[in-house]
Amino acid sequence: MILTNCVIITNDDNNNIYYDGAIFIKGTVIEDVGKASEILEKYPEEEKIDLGGRLVMPGMICGHSHIYSAYARGMAVSRPTDNFFNVLENLWWTLDRTLTLEDVSLNAYTTYMESIQNGVTTLVDHHSGPNSVEGSLFALRDAATDLGIRTSLCYELSDRDGMEIRDKEIKENIDFIKACKEDDKGDMVKAMFGLHASFTLSDETLNKAREAMEGLYDGYHVHIAEGIEDEWDSLQKHGKRIVERLEDFGIITENTLAVHGVHINEREMDILKKHNTPVIFNPESNMNNAVGCPPILRMMEKGITVGMGTDAYTNDMFDSMKVSNILLSHNACDPTKGFSETLEIQFKNNPKIFSKYFNREIGVIKKGAYADIITFNYMPYTPLTKDNWGGHALFGLTGRLVNDTIINGKFVMKDKIILNVDQEEIHAKSRERAREIWKLV
Ligand SMILES: [Zn+2]
Repeated sequence: MILTNCVIITNDDNNNIYYDGAIFIKGTVIEDVGKASEILEKYPEEEKIDLGGRLVMPGMICGHSHIYSAYARGMAVSRPTDNFFNVLENLWWTLDRTLTLEDVSLNAYTTYMESIQNGVTTLVDHHSGPNSVEGSLFALRDAATDLGIRTSLCYELSDRDGMEIRDKEIKENIDFIKACKEDDKGDMVKAMFGLHASFTLSDETLNKAREAMEGLYDGYHVHIAEGIEDEWDSLQKHGKRIVERLEDFGIITENTLAVHGVHINEREMDILKKHNTPVIFNPESNMNNAVGCPPILRMMEKGITVGMGTDAYTNDMFDSMKVSNILLSHNACDPTKGFSETLEIQFKNNPKIFSKYFNREIGVIKKGAYADIITFNYMPYTPLTKDNWGGHALFGLTGRLVNDTIINGKFVMKDKIILNVDQEEIHAKSRERAREIWKLV
């Protein structure tokens, strides 16, 4: 298939833009990209899809989210949420305890659909639902497969719901990692080992996790120092800072995702750098929970690869980019900070961090990369060039302007219609279940 009559931002190493461009997709992969006249001449027999002059970019990557929080939209919380711990206990941990496997599946469908609508083609999730652990990652996988979105899944291991549930959580991670090794749905579904956070994980539990992972994999997905309470807990109980503690357990590796890092110090940053462990920045979530601004600029100065997620605050990475820009400049009291760093985080680092989990590159339009591509109804009223497209991406684009989403060479949304499933029917079921769940929280 050839996508033609479009303006293509490639995000490749040379930052190429094609104003009258075309992309030849063969199967799941981009076979060629360039000027439309040349591509059409080279492959005359291929089916052509006219994009009507639309703007085209690589699909967006969301590096950290929580599908399980979907029912929280519009939900009233009656108990206090006046500090980070109470936000967890009285909102998120109260909600996740209510979820059945049916809810996990509905949450997956609604979140993945909204992600696709906002141009997200790869979603990295960190799941929790202590009363429906068994089979939960498989339920998420099945929804992703049904919709055709690329995903990485894990279950957030924690001691907070008791040892019986903890053991089920270890088993679910391991069962899913093994299942993905056998069948990764054509490189569409990946598994990591999820850990909640240092302050809900005893030494015994971390040892069990590590033993279960022996010989399997060394990629963990873990919240680090999101609230200051997490660092206090680690210092008080273990006499070490969080990253030092997790390093001792062999959890800080280049395949691990260290999420947040709001309160890490210079020494912890040096450890992350030493192991090439990426840090995932979630600017809106950090502001919403009032936990502070992570030292992102300092991490980047030190050479840590910082990526971006949403922590489920939104499913629109363009929203997250806007907030990243202003949070970083506001926090540094320096209006020159934030802009270029945000573009680097989203468009250079996310593709770099997450491509390595898959067999081919994602987040770039070039020969050999996966055909994960989005189109926008966006007519720029200032020049758009190879040197300034980031300014358009940050200030002009939003997820709501996405018209088509192509993942792994297939349209999963065309002209704003989600294909493959009945979105209205799923939303109706989700509203019905949300009403029931809200009575329980
Ligand atoms: Zn999170």
